[in-house]
Order: sequence, then structure tokens, then C-alpha cells
Amino acid sequence: MKKETRLVEAGRKKQWTGGVVNPPVYHASTVVFDTVADMREAVRNRARSHMYYGRRGTPTHFALQDAMCELEGGVGCALYPSGLAAVTGAMLSFLESGDHLLMVDGAYEPTRTLCDGYLKNMGVETTYYDPLIGSGISELIRDNTRMVFVESPCSLTMEVQDVPAIAKAAHDKGAIVLMDNTWGTPFNFKPFEHGVDVSIQAATKYIVGHSDAMLGTATANEKCWDQLREMSLQLGYCAAPDDVYLGLRGLRTMGLRLEQHEENALKVADWLASRPEVDHVRHPALESCPGHEFFKRDFLGSCGLFSFVMTDNYKESQLTPMLDNMELFKMGFSWGGYESLILPAHGLDKNRTAVKWQAKGPLVRLHIGLENADDLIEDLEKGFARIDN
Ligand SMILES: *Cc1c(COP(=O)(O)O)cnc(C)c1O
Repeated sequence: MKKETRLVEAGRKKQWTGGVVNPPVYHASTVVFDTVADMREAVRNRARSHMYYGRRGTPTHFALQDAMCELEGGVGCALYPSGLAAVTGAMLSFLESGDHLLMVDGAYEPTRTLCDGYLKNMGVETTYYDPLIGSGISELIRDNTRMVFVESPCSLTMEVQDVPAIAKAAHDKGAIVLMDNTWGTPFNFKPFEHGVDVSIQAATKYIVGHSDAMLGTATANEKCWDQLREMSLQLGYCAAPDDVYLGLRGLRTMGLRLEQHEENALKVADWLASRPEVDHVRHPALESCPGHEFFKRDFLGSCGLFSFVMTDNYKESQLTPMLDNMELFKMGFSWGGYESLILPAHGLDKNRTAVKWQAKGPLVRLHIGLENADDLIEDLEKGFARIDN
């Protein structure tokens, strides 16, 4: 089955939908049983998509879990109330006091805050590593290194990682590999084909796709699924049925949306690359992006999110006249919806510790939405003119 077809078909078992196209939204805490035998049967099968108790899911949840496994390729999928809860829930499922963790230096900032905060307090030591380290990560792996965490491309700075090389080095020394695969989406990066053990999605982004719900997923291979599921349940994680429904609904048009996001973003990225204000564009599909060769080798496509670095003629504070009152690009901390967003990066010099952030000019992140790219370019062009005046 081609990936577009799979996106339409995934998770739509009659058992979950009851014969209509989309599964109904079950609002449920208690599942009731008529007989002791029925109840025992539910207990026995509660880890295998059997109705047992609301927290462990209903057919609404089972449909999304099945769909994510079909799309990403794992054997099981845990659902969380946000993308960050998926990061936290997945990491806490495997880390114990005394463990060592290797975290990519360009991780999503709240993931970094978790490492420096709660994980540190519980006795997990984090070493940040160069996103472009590849198999060289082997030298950083210690006897107590339990986990290597990759996020490719990195948040804001967009370095694309050599995930297969990192995964091989980790596995050779007995560590597991978690990946934040939000940018790649289940459509454009197949984590389990590249050695990942647990793949995390902020489904809030392209899966929900309309900026109207928070949702997270973590899909695991055979080796990690039982532990991920049971530990995440131990911590009480579950996702609300209406949000799960929005995730399922979003999935069906995600391929079409991504293709348009990709086309628009490439058009805007090419235009930016030709501008005198811009030092270089960090879009994984362009050669100017660190790790571009791994994008070409491993990804099936790109999306609407990328960054550009301005020349050292500009300081962050000078961007204000550009950013204030843009017509189409609004400032906001998320991405993956149908709308365009612009975000100046702040504090990269402090938030990169393995490799010093070298660029002198400010970095701006864009999310390119589904508007016409020419209108977006005009909005940016007028913005640049406001700075230069
Ligand atoms: C947004 C984001 C998250 C967190 O998702 P939320 O649903 O906002 O909690 C995690 N990782 C990446 C890469 C993200 O962009």
C-alpha cells in the first residue's frame, strides 16, 4: 500500500468504527460487566485493546493507536494528553535513578528543561551531544547509559541527524533509542526502519493539524512496548476522547496538507535564500542545512517548518518592526496548523552546550501554512522593508 492510501485506511477496523466511516467518540470512565466471566476476560485482555476501564482506552483510542502503529511501524502506541507528556511519559518509562542519558543538543526546549530539572533531581545524569555526531556517539556511551534521545531535525536550528548510525552505536552498547519524530511525522519519516525503539509525536502539530487540540503519542517496537505501556499507565497518562477523535480526523488529510505545506515552504525558503538580509536558510531539503545529506537519504518528504539565519548586520532587537503586526504571519509557540507563524529564536547561545551556537545574526523560525506562497512572500518582503527603514 502506498503511504497516501495507508493514511486513509489506517486504524479503520469495523471493530472500532461499528461500520460507519469514523469511530464514534466514547465518553467513558467506567466499563460495566454483567458477569464475573466477562470481567475476568476484560482483565486478562486489558493490555490488548479490550474495553476494561476508561483510562486504558475505548475503541476511539484503539483506532488511533492502531493507525499510528500501521503508519509508524511499531507494535503498540501509548496516548498522552500533550506532546510534552509523551516525551516525559516515554522517558520516565525507561529511566531510573543512577542512569545516564544522552540528549541531542538541539532538543525541543521543554525536553531540555525536563533533563535539567526533574530528571536531574531524580538522579538521572544527562550529557548533551552534537546533533551531527553520528557514530561518534559511541565514545560518549558509558556502562550506565540507558537511553540515547534523538530529535531530527532539531528544534529551531534544524540539524538533521544520522539516526541509523546513532541507533547502531547505541544498540551495540545496550542503550535504547527514543526519537522525537514530530517534524518527520508518521508520513515522512519511518522511525523503526532507522533503528529507533520508541517514536514520539506531538500529535498537536500536523496530526491534529488545525491548532485546536493537544495530543501526544509514543509508538514502540516489540522490545520496548510492554514497558512503555505499563509504565505510562502507572503514571496515569491517558488522552481525552474528543482530542483523540480530532487526531484521527486530522490524520486523514495530513498527507495532502503536508504536500502543500512542503511546496509552499520550499518556495518561501528559496526566496529567502536570495535575500540580502539572509545569511543562510535552514530547511532540511536545502543544501545550506546541516545534515542535509541525511534528510535526502532517510526522509520521504518535508513539511512547513524551517528557520533562517540573518546576516550579522542585524540584531534580535532590530526585528521588532518586522515582527509587529505582520499581516499573515502571527507569532506563536506551536506549529503544524493550517496557518503561518513566525518566531524569533531567543537564547540559543545559552540553550546549546555541546556545540557553541556560532551564528552572529538572529535566527527566525517560520511555519509555512496553507495560504498562497506568493502572499506569504509579500508579507515577509514588507516585513524586511520595515527593518531596513
Ligand atoms: C510542540 C512540540 C512538542 C510538545 O508538544 P505539545 O503538544 O505542545 O506538548 C514536542 N516536541 C516537539 C519537537 C515539538 O515541536
